[in-house]
Amino acid sequence: MNLVLMGLPGAGKGTQAEKIVEKYNIPHISTGDMFRAAIKDGTELGLKAKSFMDQGALVPDEVTIGIVRERLSKPDCEKGFLLDGFPRTVAQAEALEGIMTEFGKSIDYVINVEVDKEILMARLTGRRICKECGATYHLVFNPPAAEDKCDRCGGDLYQRADDNEETVQNRLDVNLKQTQPLLDFYQQKGYLRNVNGQQEIQEVFQDIDELLKGLN
Ligand SMILES: [Zn+2]
Repeated sequence: MNLVLMGLPGAGKGTQAEKIVEKYNIPHISTGDMFRAAIKDGTELGLKAKSFMDQGALVPDEVTIGIVRERLSKPDCEKGFLLDGFPRTVAQAEALEGIMTEFGKSIDYVINVEVDKEILMARLTGRRICKECGATYHLVFNPPAAEDKCDRCGGDLYQRADDNEETVQNRLDVNLKQTQPLLDFYQQKGYLRNVNGQQEIQEVFQDIDELLKGLN
C-alpha cells in the first residue's frame, strides 16, 4: 500500500501515522527523517541538501525529489510506504507521479485528516506552562484543576508567544493556502480520501483502517 498522509497542524496526523505504520508494517517516510538519513549516509543528494540547509536556504525541489526517489527505491518500500510531509506542492506531487510510474507503482490513497479550523485553533492555542515549575497543561487535553494555576505548585500559568491566536491563525492560513491545490490535484486523480479527524484518536484510526483493509 502506497500512501500519502495529509492534515493541518493539530489534526493529529503524527498519531495516526504511528498507528498506520505499526499495524501495516510499512515505513513511515517523513521529510525530516529522509533528509537526516541522506545527510548521515553522505549520499551525493544528501550533501547537496546539506549545503543549502547550512546556508539557511530552501532545498530546491530537484534535490528534495531526488532524495524521495532514493528513499522509495529502498527494499523496505517494496510492500508500501507512508509519505508524510511530502509532497507539499503540486509540482512535487507531479514529480511523485513520475517516480511511481518509473517504479511501476501508483499511489493508492492520499489520506487527509480533516479537522475544522476552529477546533484546530483550540487545540493549537490551548497549551499553558507554569511560570514556577515549567509543568505543561492543555486547556482541551490536560486542563489544570483551577484555571491559570499550576496543580503541582500553584504557580501562575502562561501561554508561549508561539501559541498565541495570531501566530497560530497565520500558521494555519499559510498551511491551508498551500494545501488546497494539492488536495484538488489528488481529488482529480481519484486518490483523495477525507477522514473525520474530530473523533477520538481510536475512531479516526478505525476509519483509516477500514479504508486500508481493501489494499494489499
Ligand atoms: Zn508549577
